[in-house]
Amino acid sequence: MANLNEQWTNVLEILKKEIPSTTFSTWVIPLVPSTLEDNKLTLLSPHGFTNQTLKISYGDVITKALTEVTGMPVTFEIIQDKTLAENFEKESKKLKKEEQKKSVEKFAESKYDGLKQMVSDCHLNTKYRFDNFVVGGYNKLAYGAALGVSEGKVNDRFNPLFIYGGSGLGKTHLMQAIGNYIMTKKKAKVRYVTTEEFLNDLLENLYKGVEKDTFSKGSEKNKRMTKFRQKYRDVDVLLIDDIQFVSGKARMEEELFNIFDALYQAGRQIVLTSDRLPADIPGISERLKTRFEWGLMADIGVPDLETRMAILKQLIEKDGNIDFSLEVLEFLATVYKNNIRELEGAYNKVCAYCSICDEEPTLETVKKALNYNASTKINSKKIIGAVAKHFGLNEKDIVGESRVGQIAKARKIAVYVIRELTGESWQSIGTELGGRKHSTIMYNYDEVKKMTSRDNKLNEEINTLFNIINQM
Ligand code: ADP
Ligand code: MG
Repeated sequence: MANLNEQWTNVLEILKKEIPSTTFSTWVIPLVPSTLEDNKLTLLSPHGFTNQTLKISYGDVITKALTEVTGMPVTFEIIQDKTLAENFEKESKKLKKEEQKKSVEKFAESKYDGLKQMVSDCHLNTKYRFDNFVVGGYNKLAYGAALGVSEGKVNDRFNPLFIYGGSGLGKTHLMQAIGNYIMTKKKAKVRYVTTEEFLNDLLENLYKGVEKDTFSKGSEKNKRMTKFRQKYRDVDVLLIDDIQFVSGKARMEEELFNIFDALYQAGRQIVLTSDRLPADIPGISERLKTRFEWGLMADIGVPDLETRMAILKQLIEKDGNIDFSLEVLEFLATVYKNNIRELEGAYNKVCAYCSICDEEPTLETVKKALNYNASTKINSKKIIGAVAKHFGLNEKDIVGESRVGQIAKARKIAVYVIRELTGESWQSIGTELGGRKHSTIMYNYDEVKKMTSRDNKLNEEINTLFNIINQM
């Protein structure tokens, strides 16, 4: 049989040159030599009608090739084989599916590339979307405003939309969700930029290659600056992240002011984020502050436990390869309560630890993975207690309204110590201290910090408090 197969392969070599390639691959290749008896070769075919077609069109060619290879006159017949026919059917179905899949993949790829290109032109990150943004009481207003802007239910009241709140609480996520939504659903032109990137872009265009301000170089610079301004003005939506960094940069303020004006006049949407209110951005010009405050100010506070758990659950669902008990979820969401970025970081660390060490995420393992120790257990409540005790006061005094010298001083020190030892956000410290505004807390902290550099006695007092609290 091996011999017959070999001979048939040689015949195919000849036929390949004689028969047009599509006919050859469609009708000749599927043939299987079965027997060679009495100078007659029987070929099996998956098809029922091959026999006649091939015989009529290429009978002579095939006979000639068979004779050449075997060295004797050989005739042939082609008969349909059931098994071959079934296999052929299956294969062709599979092929069709694969083709289909390939074309779908190709289509998806090209769509994705297109999207990627669009996204990279706008500097957006597609991972930040509304559908994976968890909404709770603390960010409801900001979320609602962001969605309103995206859906185009916009009037001047929302322009600019100014989202403010502490670090790691979802400002960038929400802002980019606006961008991604508008870009994909409305096909509008969006540009996202951080204030730092904007500044670098501005400096580069202002000073690139300009040593002496000769006439020609000056005009080059003008051209560059026109292009620079166009880039930010020629959009439907401009998103500027972390605008608090504009502080103290007069030239940038001026450019921003003009860009805002142009966009605002043209009815284009502007969205800004900041870690504080415009009024609390030091050194910002009055006119820019007024512009910022024109639209809608939406704050993002500190997420409640339920939202923190929901965010964790979402992460786990997305990864889908590790399961956490409720106890572990609660532990993580309680320890990392003021910053979602830190909560995500802790989750990632635990996942990495469990997979590297091949351990289940029990509470013990999780604590080990996070190097969780007594010092992490320090919280603002304990600090308030310790500060009150140190100054011979009640906790109620510290969180209360009294402005009496000693109480006010102890309160400010509590702010400083909490911030230093826990890194909690201004908002959260404000909440712990009887619902004070985060700008007040920031101001208190700065005041104490400044004083410690001059006042040795205060410095000593604070160090004593650090020691007491660290031993708690
Ligand atoms: P900010 O800009 O306020 O510092 P980010 O927007 O960068 O904070 O958020 C930090 C991380 O937390 C991001 O990975 C973000 O996706 C996630 N995050 C923040 N808020 C939410 C939320 N409400 N739902 C889901 N993920 C969130
Ligand atoms: Mg951010």
